[in-house]
Amino acid sequence: MKNLIKQEDLLIEFFKNNPNRDINHPEVVDWVTTQYKIRVGKVFRDPDRGIRKLAQSGFLIKVAKGVYKYDPSLVKQRELEDFTTAQKKIILKRDNYKCVICGRGIKDGVELHVDHIKPKDLGGKATIENGQTLCSQHNFLKKNFKQTETGKKMFIRLYELSKKEGNKELLDFCTKILEVFEENNINGHIIWKR
Ligand SMILES: [Zn+2]
Repeated sequence: MKNLIKQEDLLIEFFKNNPNRDINHPEVVDWVTTQYKIRVGKVFRDPDRGIRKLAQSGFLIKVAKGVYKYDPSLVKQRELEDFTTAQKKIILKRDNYKCVICGRGIKDGVELHVDHIKPKDLGGKATIENGQTLCSQHNFLKKNFKQTETGKKMFIRLYELSKKEGNKELLDFCTKILEVFEENNINGHIIWKR
């Protein structure tokens, strides 16, 4: 039976026993590695990864580098802000089971997601009005918007630099990539001047 303890469960146990306290990384790592050894008899692999995953999922708050906090009321609040299955059904139906950006749906072979228009992290609520249907591609692009924006800006800078330096190889490379951004209407608000 003891093998049923998952590494993640042990991390959760630690934080649940230490609510509302800033936890320095070594404290939790020492505890989970020792407990895992005692209870399971194995080495706890990569506790950092487990902690990061819990922070990404919203279970932990990252207070500072290597410092995390578990706030039960915030976790509960976040769960309340998830759409219920019933809400998702209403939103999908309202949007005619199509991505509101590209208009593709299940029959086009894409997976559909119900997205918070105003993100949960910014106080967006689980209301029908705050929901929209997105395909996997646009859901991903929205969630990683800052990264794709940074990417496009970076290739524009590189394009201009290669133009100035007369580096044709690099110029061709950047042109190809920026054309892909344009063809797929990604970050169209960032203007690339050829
Ligand atoms: Zn789409």
